[in-house]
Amino acid sequence: MYIGYHLKKKVQFVEIMHFNNKNIIIILIDALRFDKLTAGGYKYNLTPNINKLLKEGTLVKNHFANGCPTSVSFPAIFSSTFPLDYKGYNEGVKNRPKTFAEVFKDNGYDTFGITSAHPSGDHFFYNRGFRIYENLLDFYQWFRQNLKVLLREDLTRYKNKDITKNEMIELLSKNYLNILNSTLKYVNQFEELDVKSKNFNVKKNKSKIIEEIELLKNNPEIVLKKFIEFDYLYYKFLGKKNISNLTRYFLKYKENLRTRINDIINLFPRRKIYEAKEIFQRFKRYFLNENKKPFLAFIHLFDVHESKNFTVKFSFSYIKNLIKLLFIRRFKFGGFVYDLAVMHVDDEIGKFHEYLKKNEILENSIVAITSDHGLKAGFPPRPKTHLRTDLSQQFYEEFIRVPLIFYPKLDRKFDENKLSSHIDFAPTLLDICNLDKNEGFKGKSIFDQNRYSGIVLSENTGSGICDIINKNIYLCLRNKRIKIVYEIESKNIKERDVFDIVKDPNEFNNLVKSNLHETERNEFYNFAKQRLETIYSYV
Ligand SMILES: [Zn+2]
Repeated sequence: MYIGYHLKKKVQFVEIMHFNNKNIIIILIDALRFDKLTAGGYKYNLTPNINKLLKEGTLVKNHFANGCPTSVSFPAIFSSTFPLDYKGYNEGVKNRPKTFAEVFKDNGYDTFGITSAHPSGDHFFYNRGFRIYENLLDFYQWFRQNLKVLLREDLTRYKNKDITKNEMIELLSKNYLNILNSTLKYVNQFEELDVKSKNFNVKKNKSKIIEEIELLKNNPEIVLKKFIEFDYLYYKFLGKKNISNLTRYFLKYKENLRTRINDIINLFPRRKIYEAKEIFQRFKRYFLNENKKPFLAFIHLFDVHESKNFTVKFSFSYIKNLIKLLFIRRFKFGGFVYDLAVMHVDDEIGKFHEYLKKNEILENSIVAITSDHGLKAGFPPRPKTHLRTDLSQQFYEEFIRVPLIFYPKLDRKFDENKLSSHIDFAPTLLDICNLDKNEGFKGKSIFDQNRYSGIVLSENTGSGICDIINKNIYLCLRNKRIKIVYEIESKNIKERDVFDIVKDPNEFNNLVKSNLHETERNEFYNFAKQRLETIYSYV
């Protein structure tokens, strides 16, 4: 009786405590660069709405991504571990100890997430801890990137006869089967949510995916043949055993024509994302139907990431922004479509802010706005390398420096000149909500006096699949004065780039061959050596 009474009292206390907790709304604007905000020094004001939130909120102005692009950065944001920890980022957050959504769920929050991009979907375990996690993927990109990132290197090895047909089929049977199973899950979710796919007939293709799985199990050679012949258009022939010459001819003709037109103007885009407006709509639907308190919502916007796939849109607000931007920029074009997408997302954030206010959600919520990495868009120009997208080159400031904004203003003080990075994001969220620290998290809250902020770290294993054993490892270390990128080949640590980011903030002048900054370079070298030991300790 006594214990029972106590337990009951405790439960009541927990419930009351949580009732008073604020909701957390995370808006992740994929690929938003810090230097494209006026707060980051941009000469054009593209983001009046974000600026308003920023003015009444808290800006963490020296904040960095632990890697670029999405697939590399996301593990750090979600699980407060570095991209190359736990054998790397091929399987997203599958092997990481804990995600922030799991912690919030354990603490009684209702958890809702929505992603509009394939690298952050269920296939990579980003739904961990979310009661509802909606994958509004662009199926074209999903199929294409799977080939590019997960299968391309093995297929090339097979074509070059570096691996046998049997070995290739074995790899395909495992990796492609996983992809097909995830595709089936995504298709089912589209049906359940009653959402229409923009470039993939979900109903029509469902049975074809099942047939393709059967084909892969019983006749993997046919599947391999399709990959070799059609490359990333393989998904047009799901479940098909025989493809007639007429179909072949027609497809090639159609796709060539499409490419030729799109090279001039992107009239028939293959990529079709769910736009910010539609994503916010999903949140509104969730709030209307579920309305549980407190909640944690993760909202992922992909518009800025996809800005270069510019399509002509005939909406009033789009044309208004286009004309406005032409005048703001005085008809200067470098990075124009990127800026246009930023303006567009800012408009939608303004509207969402109004919605939160009107529905009395804002007063009970903390909004966090951040980005996962930047991308190339206008200034500064960078030298080209042999790869079209060379991830080993994506450590410049425009790729790794990202905004982090909390709204309303947080009532606790922190040193805003200190450096922080995305591994600190989840611990900061926990701290803001007075939740216990999580042992699986490697970062620390920005309010933690003991947080190490001397050097921030970004890393990857270059383009394509993550492979710590066989590929070069790239580590980028940055403090307030210098940045060094190391290229590590067979455990041999070599400085590749050294920049004085105070004197040369655009990183145009590589000092690697000079003797400058010797003390710091030694200190950084030891840091890199230690980091490498940790990376290898997992594999
Ligand atoms: Zn991204």
